[in-house]
Amino acid sequence: MKIAVLPGDGIGPEIVAQAVKVLNSLGPKFDLETAPVGGAAYDIAGHPLPPATLALAKEADAILFGAVGDWKHDTLPRELRPEQAILGLRKHLELFANFRPAICYDQLTAASSLKPEIVGGLDILIIRELNGDIYFGQPRGVRTSELPLFKGAREAYDMMHYSEPEVERIGHVAFDAARKRSKKVCSVDKANVLETSQLWREVMIRVSKDYPDVELSHMYVDNAAMQLVKEPKAFDVVVTGNLFGDILSDEAAMLTGSIGMLPSASLDKNNKGLYEPSHGSAPDIAGKGIANPLATILSVAMMLRYSLGMLDEAHRIEAAVQKVLAQGLRTVDIYTDGTTKVSTVQMGDAVVAALS
Ligand code: NAD
Repeated sequence: MKIAVLPGDGIGPEIVAQAVKVLNSLGPKFDLETAPVGGAAYDIAGHPLPPATLALAKEADAILFGAVGDWKHDTLPRELRPEQAILGLRKHLELFANFRPAICYDQLTAASSLKPEIVGGLDILIIRELNGDIYFGQPRGVRTSELPLFKGAREAYDMMHYSEPEVERIGHVAFDAARKRSKKVCSVDKANVLETSQLWREVMIRVSKDYPDVELSHMYVDNAAMQLVKEPKAFDVVVTGNLFGDILSDEAAMLTGSIGMLPSASLDKNNKGLYEPSHGSAPDIAGKGIANPLATILSVAMMLRYSLGMLDEAHRIEAAVQKVLAQGLRTVDIYTDGTTKVSTVQMGDAVVAALS
């Protein structure tokens, strides 16, 4: 099985190196090929997603991605910024379904800013549509305003957009996922204000008819943001659009204590996927050897489960992560008194040791 390894920028290479170490220690041989992406690719090839990197991602069975983005590239035109690489991969590979589990490990309950009784045992799955919405809608741009009050001023605009088939396919993904969990889907929208959300809700209700065993509820996005901190365990599978999902999944991530713990998968209709940590390139800690590699290591577990059909190996990695946490090993982002502070490399080594 061929895996494209795209480390990217900032802490990307450090955390991906640990994930590759874990993958290689599993036993089965994987054909790993590395390529530059993001700012690192711009520096070498003048583009954040060079054709050779895209070709490798297309031919691989799965993609292991670190993170992209660096302060030194912040002044580049939008189309050349490192973040365009991830948007380009999602678009070119039609990775429309983003899975972001938010799990609060027992050993890390104290690291959450919420009370232990609210967050302890949390295990929810946010499914975010990735290919549509305001991030890709056309037209978009900057123009001169024609509004009477602001006539002649510069204004910018973006288009929120969803078609019925786009909502249908993410709806099916969410209901299928719910069938393997607690059989509850909460669809998040803003149907009281937005046309796009009214269509979204209508289609979700239609899709739900194919899943009589799964309970569908609806929630406005502003309420969902509140409920996620008030009573997060009331959710199980949350399905939402690209913009709302971007914000809510980060909020859910922080419930669990550290964004450094959370993996993610972005899948196409055949379950080929791109696997990456939920966090960004963390330029503030890059090169210091202190980044938490567990989100990336857990992303490898998701890759084995969803794209490579290797469920036993996926379980082994997840169990190994639980074991190192139980041993009290912590990178600085999840460190609390009485635990042992370890570096990025030491954490990777500990997971490898726990696997054997
Ligand atoms: P970020 O997730 O990179 O960092 C937010 C905070 O969390 C920082 O304090 C960072 O040090 C910490 N953090 C993140 N990952 C960590 C880890 N594994 N271990 C320990 N601490 C960790 O978000 P940001 O600062 O808003 O963005 C930085 C760059 O990343 C920007 O250029 C942004 O565009 C990019 N970004 C990329 C992706 C992606 O590649 N998919 C996603 C989000 C942000």
